[in-house]
Amino acid sequence: MTPDPTCQADGAALPADAPEEAARPRENCAFCRIVAGSAPADILLADERMIAFLDVAPLNPGQALLIPRRHHPAFTAMPPGLAGELFTAANRLAVAIMRAGGYDGYNLLVACGPCAGQIITHAHIHILPRGPTDGLCLPPHTTPFADDAERLAFVAAVRRRLSP
Ligand SMILES: [Zn+2]
Repeated sequence: MTPDPTCQADGAALPADAPEEAARPRENCAFCRIVAGSAPADILLADERMIAFLDVAPLNPGQALLIPRRHHPAFTAMPPGLAGELFTAANRLAVAIMRAGGYDGYNLLVACGPCAGQIITHAHIHILPRGPTDGLCLPPHTTPFADDAERLAFVAAVRRRLSP
């Protein structure tokens, strides 16, 4: 397995955050401008912690974005608990979008880091409604480890990083 050099181990290439100061609104952030009301958006949900709005470039009509109101540059930079709150809300929002649009399912997508396709550096979840004939699919190939030793070394490395 050859890692993408823009995706460093241990999150080195991912945006870091410092509490409070780093989460202030950014003038150059498209999502902060929507939060501030200075950029237009079709708002679907808004509360004191998050807002959701229609994606202006949807893969299917009704695709939406759910974001924290505060500017956290990526999921790796959010305070404990906020990711869980966002996913709880995303699930509820996805069901509403699915039913309103006559869809049969949905994907919740998070891009964290440029190599994962994150373009706007303000944490967000894509809610992508899906139908059986929409033609969207992941590439039909898999990329396994080279051998058992490489796989087991990877499992051990992940477990080490999750140890307190
Ligand atoms: Zn922002």
